[in-house]
Amino acid sequence: MLIRCPGCEGILDSRMLICPSMGRCLACGVKRLTGDELKQITRCCFKPICSCCGHCHGCHALQYTDLLPCECGFPSSPTAEVALEKFRID
Ligand SMILES: [Zn+2]
Ligand SMILES: [Zn+2]
Ligand SMILES: [Zn+2]
Ligand SMILES: [Zn+2]
Repeated sequence: MLIRCPGCEGILDSRMLICPSMGRCLACGVKRLTGDELKQITRCCFKPICSCCGHCHGCHALQYTDLLPCECGFPSSPTAEVALEKFRID
């Protein structure tokens, strides 16, 4: 599902666990990755990962889907799913 990021208003795929431009959890907004950590994982196929939609510009695969779950439980807890529904746009 598509959601609007509560922080930067970007339109994001909720399978991503974080906002690719800010590193914040999509459900609770907690900062999960620092700017430096984000930079370390901003490449796939040796091409940059788009910081607005989180897709690799080489293979178009969605990134940031395999991070550890957030403290709020996202993506595994139902409460986090409910929190995410607030930002749903479709
Ligand atoms: Zn954002
Ligand atoms: Zn969270
Ligand atoms: Zn994009
Ligand atoms: Zn790629």
